[in-house]
Amino acid sequence: MQTELHESLRKGVRELCARFPDPYWRELDAQRAYPTAFVKTLTEAGYLAALIPEEYGGAGLHITEAAIILEEINRAGCNSGACHAQMYIMGTLLRHGNVEQKRRYLPKIANGELRLQAFGVSEPTTGSDTTQLKTMAVRKGDKYVVNGQKVWISRAEHSDLMLMIARTTPVEQVKKRSEGLSVLLVDMREAVGHGIAIRPIRTMMNHATTELFIDDLEVPVENLIGEEGKGFKYLLDGLNAERILIAAECIGDGRWFVERATRYAKERVVFGRPIGQNQGIQFPIAKAHVHVESADLMRIRAAELFDNGQPCGPEANMAKLLAADASWEAANMAVQTFGGFGFAEEYDVERKFRETRLYQVAPVSTNLILSFIAEHVLGLPRSY
Ligand SMILES: Cc1cc2nc3c(=O)[nH]c(=O)nc-3n(C[C@H](O)[C@H](O)[C@H](O)COP(=O)(O)OP(=O)(O)OC[C@H]3O[C@@H](n4cnc5c(N)ncnc54)[C@H](O)[C@@H]3O)c2cc1C
Repeated sequence: MQTELHESLRKGVRELCARFPDPYWRELDAQRAYPTAFVKTLTEAGYLAALIPEEYGGAGLHITEAAIILEEINRAGCNSGACHAQMYIMGTLLRHGNVEQKRRYLPKIANGELRLQAFGVSEPTTGSDTTQLKTMAVRKGDKYVVNGQKVWISRAEHSDLMLMIARTTPVEQVKKRSEGLSVLLVDMREAVGHGIAIRPIRTMMNHATTELFIDDLEVPVENLIGEEGKGFKYLLDGLNAERILIAAECIGDGRWFVERATRYAKERVVFGRPIGQNQGIQFPIAKAHVHVESADLMRIRAAELFDNGQPCGPEANMAKLLAADASWEAANMAVQTFGGFGFAEEYDVERKFRETRLYQVAPVSTNLILSFIAEHVLGLPRSY
């Protein structure tokens, strides 16, 4: 349901994004550089503090509104990937952090003094099988000493804090492999060069992702989030929010592709008429539009359930799958509609095409969502 708040949020984000037009993103993309000015402006305007409660200096909004912010960023041709993690990892600190941790970090995150943009889960040898991760945190007095390796840790060079998952009890000593993992808040300002070495990974799109080598990193015990050994549960707790927010980004991308393709199809004249007059061009645009709008309904439903505190695992997962598929279909459609110009950097279609491709794989791959639906919704046998 649209409300005045939603409309004003959309308008505000659109106006802010208009200050960062296509050439800004094109230039950064060519250099694989981080959009520091964009993220700073977004933070100063308070948008990245949407989910932080008002008592800690945030806007105290819900996932529905946070999703609208990310959707509008992508719809404007910008890229939420530069800053979305702050929205979805915030929940771990909010739900499981103690009062002291919240007082210490949240107001500074809200006002932009601290950036919480990095989330350290993935590892080179474990892939999607998170419970097998190898990074070990061993308690020694009032510190954890951490050793291991992480991969695909995005924005690590542009974040002051990182939420990291490490094993605190060896896998052979736990009853269930999901036990014995813990969440640590790592202060990157101290850690880099003193236990963490960062190696950037150049990818097909501009994503500031990196590999982390962790060697005797010391993390104060007071930076443990929640209880030791419950980290996997905390991770799962945050996944529905993540799925909904990512779905919204995909919807934003999908609308961007449909809008750009529609405009181009009206303007581009070949054989003496606009290409959009040909059904071979207009049907794929119409179909992409239908799929984006249908995915949006599932995302709205999932967000409503989430905000009402109701279970929404199936809806959040379905929303992410439908939206990622819809944005990818729209991306393909847009390249086809633009013909040769779909491949030219100056039209931005190829950039957005590369960016939206990621959602099929990260933060969760489509196969893993289908496995979730098959097993947990349909009751089919567990496949892994
Ligand atoms: C640009 C980028 C940024 C990222 N940012 C972060 C980040 O900030 N923090 C972080 O922790 N991680 C991050 N990731 C990691 C991301 O979450 C993983 O890439 C993703 O979860 C998939 O894991 P994997 O790459 O190891 O693939 P794998 O687990 O090796 O899987 C490879 C393929 O096999 C399929 N597959 C695996 N097992 C099964 C199965 N049982 N059934 C069917 N299919 C299966 C997968 O779906 C996938 O298509 C990022 C990744 C990328 C590419």
